[in-house]
Amino acid sequence: MAKIYIKTYGCQMNERDSEQVARMLVERGHLITPHENEADVVLLNTCSVRDLAEQKALGKMGMLGALSRQRPVVYGFLGCMAQSRGESLFKEIPHLDLVVGTQKFHRVAEYVENALARKAGPRMDDVRFSIVDVEEEPDSQGSIRDHLLSERQVTAFVSIMQGCNMRCTFCIVPFTRGHERSRPIDQIVDEVKRLVDRGIREVTLLGQIVNLYGRHEFPKVDGRSPFVQLLEAVHAVDGLDRIRFTSPHPIGFRKDLVEAFHSLPKLVEHVHFPLQSGSDRILRAMHRTYTAEKYLKLVDEIRAITPEMAMTTDIIVGFPGETDEDFQSTKALVDRVGFDNAFVFKYSKRKDTPAAGMLDQVPDRIKEERNQELLALVNDWARRRNAGFIGREVEVLCEGPSKTNPARLMGRTRGNKIVVFEGASRHLCQLLNIRITHASGYTLYGEPVPVDAGTALGRPDNVSDIASCQVGSLGDVGKTGPYRREPTEIGNK
Ligand code: SAM
Repeated sequence: MAKIYIKTYGCQMNERDSEQVARMLVERGHLITPHENEADVVLLNTCSVRDLAEQKALGKMGMLGALSRQRPVVYGFLGCMAQSRGESLFKEIPHLDLVVGTQKFHRVAEYVENALARKAGPRMDDVRFSIVDVEEEPDSQGSIRDHLLSERQVTAFVSIMQGCNMRCTFCIVPFTRGHERSRPIDQIVDEVKRLVDRGIREVTLLGQIVNLYGRHEFPKVDGRSPFVQLLEAVHAVDGLDRIRFTSPHPIGFRKDLVEAFHSLPKLVEHVHFPLQSGSDRILRAMHRTYTAEKYLKLVDEIRAITPEMAMTTDIIVGFPGETDEDFQSTKALVDRVGFDNAFVFKYSKRKDTPAAGMLDQVPDRIKEERNQELLALVNDWARRRNAGFIGREVEVLCEGPSKTNPARLMGRTRGNKIVVFEGASRHLCQLLNIRITHASGYTLYGEPVPVDAGTALGRPDNVSDIASCQVGSLGDVGKTGPYRREPTEIGNK
């Protein structure tokens, strides 16, 4: 039995992949440790979306090399950077043993055990014994299906597809995750049923362009896209209270999906709706295939059906050729929508992507200035949106103790806002009504509405100990999903 430390960089899909790896390792008798210092195996599940994410993972792996001065340690890079850099990673990190790409997570446990066996043998530093597997694997989308839930966990991620065919000119994802492939609806529904049987009440359906789910594999039925058919099938699972999804693309966000928010009550009122830029010229250069006007029209259509909809987004500043006028268009659009939150990214050149070769790259200083200016606007809107909740009652799914103050509890509204409140053990893992008393830019604070006024929205509760509800015993394995970390800041990634 080995002690295995897993750290995840990047998006929810990476977190979900790490959870699958952790589950397979635990099934084979290994232990997941949150403490890097005691690890026999270090696995970093990497992100390639921006250079910074790659540098962080490389720096961490370099630093953790010191562990092997005390005992043999197996080191592995998994996921997107492993896929894009492959064998070349051994040159940068001489103590590296494993490089496993995005379609091979299901083989990690086997590779780890091989590497452990070799470390115990006589030729442990021979580079010929290193393992690299970054090949394509047919049907790998079906291999991410098992969950490692902590006690009294109430939310879970479900990967419904892999890959991306969109070819945005800034984005490395089509190179790291391959082409779009979707799992069948019945397989996903079975996974959700199993989760609900184990106490999960909210699922987040994950895909790179989640609303394009199934477009190559399954037909439309009565004008409803495969994604909407999937939402309906998941919605029918008894015992499930909430459905989220991330991230959709404005292309393919059609009437049937807009209307699903009305017809499917479990589908919560939150859309993460990547904008990238408010300038048509830049959107064209990004190959985003919509205009600012089209984006706004969609926002208006969504809000007409669901006025309460919380909207968050991704925006890139400093894309090649972005002028001050383009940037002002982005700011104007952000102001017009009034997002609840936004991730603002400084454009980062990615290997082999068309934008990396564009001649009019924007200097770092300007990227930084635009980043700060846009963040100020995003933060201002976040505060205004949150302030609007003061005095209102909101439905909160209690996820467990607050990370910043474990004596308090935290949960999320349907709009995905964090709520921290003074609670009791009977509130754990329950749907509650919370009256919001005050708000910061990022967090709402409130108190449970007394039971006789309808506090117990959830199932009967027999919890006796606050600490027993989801304490994230798996360290960094999944940092915002099953082992979700409360964000302390917004906007800047
Ligand atoms: N589904 C999303 C979409 O509609 O484009 C893609 C998710 S991507 C993994 C997350 C975000 O990273 C993107 O929305 C984009 O804002 C940002 N991003 C991707 N490539 C980038 C780059 N080269 N530089 C800066 N930000 C980037």
